[in-house]
Parts: sequence; structure tokens; C-alpha cells
Amino acid sequence: MTGPVIIITPAPTANGDMHLGHIAGPFLAADVCARYVRATGRAALLGTGVQDTSTFVVTTARRLGTTPDALVRRAAKEIEATLDALAIQVDGFTGWEDRFLSFVREVVGELWEQGRIVLRPMVFPYAPRTGEFLVDGHIAGACPVCLADSCGGLCETCGHPVPANELRNPRSTRDPEEAVEFRTVEVLVLPLEQYRGRLRAHFDHVATMLRPRAAQLIDELLGKPLVDFPVTYPSSWGIPAPGLPGQVVNPNAEPVAWTLYCSMLAAESAGHSPASEHELWLPQAGSELVYFLGADNLYPFAIAGLGMLAAYRPECLFPTRLFTNEFYELDREKFSTSRGHLVWARDLAAQAPRDLIRFHLATDSPELQRSSFSRTELARLTRIRLVEPWNRVAERVNGLSGSGPLPVSARAQSDAARIAERFRAAYELPRFSLQRAATTITQQLHRLTDPALDGGDLCHQTEVVLRYAAPILVDLATALPDTGLTGITIRDSVEPLRLPLLSPLES
Ligand SMILES: [Zn+2]
Repeated sequence: MTGPVIIITPAPTANGDMHLGHIAGPFLAADVCARYVRATGRAALLGTGVQDTSTFVVTTARRLGTTPDALVRRAAKEIEATLDALAIQVDGFTGWEDRFLSFVREVVGELWEQGRIVLRPMVFPYAPRTGEFLVDGHIAGACPVCLADSCGGLCETCGHPVPANELRNPRSTRDPEEAVEFRTVEVLVLPLEQYRGRLRAHFDHVATMLRPRAAQLIDELLGKPLVDFPVTYPSSWGIPAPGLPGQVVNPNAEPVAWTLYCSMLAAESAGHSPASEHELWLPQAGSELVYFLGADNLYPFAIAGLGMLAAYRPECLFPTRLFTNEFYELDREKFSTSRGHLVWARDLAAQAPRDLIRFHLATDSPELQRSSFSRTELARLTRIRLVEPWNRVAERVNGLSGSGPLPVSARAQSDAARIAERFRAAYELPRFSLQRAATTITQQLHRLTDPALDGGDLCHQTEVVLRYAAPILVDLATALPDTGLTGITIRDSVEPLRLPLLSPLES
């Protein structure tokens, strides 16, 4: 049975709008993948949302002089508007609705009741001045693994988990001079080591499909015993832990509930009514489970998250496709909201056609290494690789418009089949690559500018290129009668399309 392709990309933190780094990371790739899957006739469901429980919501609200609640509400609206502005179509958008909060508590409660998560003492930094425990974004220091500056919980440089009491030279992020003590608290933990065998077997099975950085991190993590994973911790901001006053669910322990819930929500928006949150994750559902995520999200989603899934519903499948990305920078420096070193994705979409933005971000996709945005490069790259060759081809095709059905030679049909094959090699799972898909658009457009190519042969091959470019160039693709890729692609005669021209951006 062939079920849907379920595409999940972790929810951005609800502490502000999305900058271009977010879009160039997992979001554009997830959208293009979903559009391609649908064009081939298979159902695709894309799930994401906003995460309001991160401590970064509290630290950002403090910096901006607002309340965490007000910040979350504003950020959620902005994030939805930005996804829309860049034509990123989301089927399941998870927020902080009661139904989701109850499900998270239900998962934690059930795991505790069944003895799969247990109370164990853990040491946490504590600020005696305020009587608060300093978890995640409230504490910083040097990562004990890679020595880079990191917050508690997870190091975004090396991707390893960082128990807050193991940070070197720990300091409160609210006030670096604030005295920090360490106190022991009994919290619920998942004895993750029990699941290392299943995780190892799974990642051995999918090893050749992982991008190099993900493969390295997974080997590092699974190459030694896994430390207990805190499912709850002492804090006042987050989803209250069932039966443990003063504790909340660790936001990094939400992924198991979140991914299942998000899949169900996406299915509901497509008109289905799954019987449970995890129904689409059962082997009999025939789903293909795909994650698009930053490399720093691997530990919570693919190690701790899947360990928790194995504990909660061992019969569920694990995702077999994990597409990681590196950071996307601005002028070769990391995006930074606090320093104002960023480009808001929605601002850029108001200044430049979104097809040009999508094409540029796809060409420069940070799939394997960091890449960097510059406004000058956006204008130059899109002009050379898309606008100019496209306009030359479109003007010639438009010159043939109205001349009735034109014959397509056998050679051109065979070339069209090769074009389709090159695009499929870029889009198909498990080797999906946004960057290769965008590069293929450029290569094929340059080929089509050859004056020797004319008549029905030119029109047909242009249409095939546009059909396969459609998951990226969503507005240009509206020139097509439909964006399907099943059956009808290669033809022996063709009615020339009327194609729109693209305007170059000013440098
Ligand atoms: Zn590190």
C-alpha cells in the first residue's frame, strides 16, 4: 500500500519572524519536496508550526521589554505570513492549542505510568538571587564537546547534547555577574541507552542516504553510551509536567508528541480523519516519513526523539529520510537577531519576486556546507542563471504562439525524456537536492537558448523544463495548464504556450 509522504520540518521558535536563514534552511526544501511529490501523483503532507515553549521566548521577551505571551502571539502571526509570502504551503501548522498541550502531557504521563521514563536526580544550575533554575537559554558557557560558546541543553555548533551542569565557565545569560549554584532535582528521564541498539540498527540501514555532517554526528552520538535524557526539568515556562509541580516538559522532549500530532493535523487538513495521532506512522499506513532539519536539530529529533518514539509506540516506523542543512549566513557572518544582522524573509519578498528568491536560495542551498546571502549576488545570480536565459527562450516560444500544433521530432522527444530524468535524479528521494534541481534548471535553460533548436522541438522541451522547474518557480509555472508530471510529459506534437517574461533585479 502506498500512503502519503509525510514531510516534517521543526517549528521555528516563536520569538520573532523568520529570517532568510530559516527559509534557506529546511523550509524551502520541504516545500519543494512536497510540491514535487504531489506533481508525481502521490499525496504529500507538510507539517510544521511554531514552538512557544523554548526559553529563548522568555529571554527575547525580556530583551524587547514585552511579555512572553505577547511575543508568541505576534511571532506566530508573522511566521505564518512569511511562509505564505514565500509560497511555502503548510498542511499542518501546530501552535499551542489545548489539544496539542493535552497530547504532550498524555504522552509523558503514559510513558511514566508504564515505567519507560523514570524519576532520577539531575544537577541543574540555580540562581539563588531569584530562586530560579537556569536551563537552556538562561545559562551559557563553553560546550564540553567542541568548546564553542553554547547555551544549556544543546550545542548548536557541534549538535551534541549539553547537560547545563557540564558547561564550562557557566554564566547566567540574564546577568553574567549573577552568582550561580548547582542543585539536584528529581526529574523524569528517558534511559536513552536502552534504545541505542534500535537507533544504531536504523541509522546503519539509512547510513548511505545521510548527508556527511549528519552521518558524523550520529556516529559520534551512538558510538558511546547515551546519557539519560531529561524529559522534564524545573522551570516555570513550558508545558506543565503531569504530576510534578514546578516542572515543565523539556521543549527538546516535545518532538515525539509534536511530530505525531503534526502529521495528524496535516492529514486532517487534507480531509482525512486518522483514528490516532500515530496512525500514519504505523507500517500498515504505507507512509514515507521525511525530516528536513538543521544539523543542530538532529539530537532532539532523530536521537532523543526517536528513542522516545521507540519507548512510546515501538510499533511505529522511524523516518527513513533525514535531510540536514548547515547555517545560511549573511555576508559570510551568522544571522543574528540581537545584532540586527539579518534579512527578514518577508521584507525581501516585498522587494523581489518570490520565484527569484526561491531560485536563488535553491541554487545556494546550504545542504552540505554554510553558504551566504548577499543582495548583490541575488541580483547577479538570478539575472545570469535564470532571468536572461529564460527571457531569451520565452521570447522565441512566444514568437511561435498561435501557429497551431507543432510537430515534435523523435530526437526532441528523446531529449525531453533525458531532461525529465535529470530532474528526477535531483528531486527523487532519497537523494533529493534543492541545489541540484536549481542547477539543472540553469543548465537546461542555457541549452534551450541554442538557435539550432526551434519550432515544436523548442516549445516541447521548454514546457518540460518548466514543468520540472515548477516546484521551485511557483509563479512562472502558472503559465502551464497544470503542473502534473504523470504520463503526459513527452508528446509528439505541441501547442506553443504563452510564457511570461521575468524582470531582472537591480543590483
Ligand atoms: Zn559543541
